[in-house]
Amino acid sequence: MNSVQIEDKNFELFLENDQINKRTRLIGIQLNVDYEDRCPIIIGVLNGSFVFMADLLKEIEISCEIAFIRVSSYKDTESTGIIKEAFGLPDNLHNRDIILVEDIVDTGLTLKYILEKVRLQAPASVKVCSLLLKPDALLAPVPELEYIGFEIPNEFVVGYGLDYNGLGRNLKDIYSAVN
Ligand code: 5GP
Repeated sequence: MNSVQIEDKNFELFLENDQINKRTRLIGIQLNVDYEDRCPIIIGVLNGSFVFMADLLKEIEISCEIAFIRVSSYKDTESTGIIKEAFGLPDNLHNRDIILVEDIVDTGLTLKYILEKVRLQAPASVKVCSLLLKPDALLAPVPELEYIGFEIPNEFVVGYGLDYNGLGRNLKDIYSAVN
């Protein structure tokens, strides 16, 4: 599909599943090397990261633990900047190596909030792996953001776990909003 319509918005094909998989494979290889013998706790940030997290984990061959947290802050297509809450952060992060897996980093406010919560438990290290990053929207640098799939322009995207008003998460490819 070259384009899709979701409610009032049109989207055009932006990143094909094949491209995403190739990049994910490379990130997986890098994580296997960087975290060998460290048994990291890999934490997926729901909802958006579930597809990326599943594909990424298939590339991880080292011993690791998996967890998910849920954060909600987004309404419509613009970040409210207000983080409502994070649910389900594991309480065993002390002295462990943590990898947070995000679908997309936009302003970076969600990540900042999660990182503060994670740091309270004094982990050995924290790094972030995000499939997408909008560098032009990022409000402040995030030094922990070490593994990035694709840097993208400041446009709204859906598919591959990402939604528009709750829809489109099941699309295999990633689509970008047509203005
Ligand atoms: P931030 O706090 O970095 O501004 O926003 C992070 C969250 O906003 C992401 O986890 C995601 O849920 C949502 N978000 C940001 N940009 C987009 C986008 O282009 N498309 C979709 N579907 N969600 C986005």
